[in-house]
Amino acid sequence: MTQYDTSNIFAKILRGEIPSHTVYEDEAVIAFMDVMPQADGHALVVPKSPSRNLLDADPATLPAVIAAVQTVAIASKKAFSADGITILQFNEAPAGQSVFHLHFHIIPRHEGHPMRA
Ligand code: AMP
Repeated sequence: MTQYDTSNIFAKILRGEIPSHTVYEDEAVIAFMDVMPQADGHALVVPKSPSRNLLDADPATLPAVIAAVQTVAIASKKAFSADGITILQFNEAPAGQSVFHLHFHIIPRHEGHPMRA
């Protein structure tokens, strides 16, 4: 497993070095809007503890993280009047990961509207 690299863009957001449109924060996570949304309201839930992805995450941190994912998903469904919510999470580049700090995509979905490519 490749080591966690503290220079990734989400680590910079967590340190306050670059801005984000933050929509939720608790002890375990922050959530902010994705800069290249695959649908309106696409947000990212980012744990504050450093891990590259789910494969190297400390299991002790995960209950609080998944609870925050649920909180943001419920709020997002309401805020965007969505019919459903897609949650995506990628592990390593061959699986589609491009930012190497664990995160969950929260994507509001509407009947008959495919996600953007
Ligand atoms: P992935 O690593 O493929 O699961 O996705 C990383 C996501 O981070 C992509 O959807 C990007 O659009 C998003 N992203 C990259 N940089 C930023 C940023 N500075 N603020 C918010 N979202 C970002």
